Amino acid sequence: MPIYEFKCKKCGLEFEKIFFSSDKKEAVPCPECKSKKTRKLISAFAGGKSGSGCGSCAATSCPPS
Ligand SMILES: [Zn+2]
Repeated sequence: MPIYEFKCKKCGLEFEKIFFSSDKKEAVPCPECKSKKTRKLISAFAGGKSGSGCGSCAATSCPPS
């Protein structure tokens, strides 16, 4: 399922939201200040990698390059 990363224009919080099939078009309110002025940063797909690994290896603790 797709994961989208958002940044709140009001308070600057960055957060991720996993979308299920039917709620893609809804505005995504900031979990901190509830503002709907959020901007989508990137999209990625869950399932191809585990944890917070770098994406090019299976490890979840590879150092940042
Ligand atoms: Zn906010």
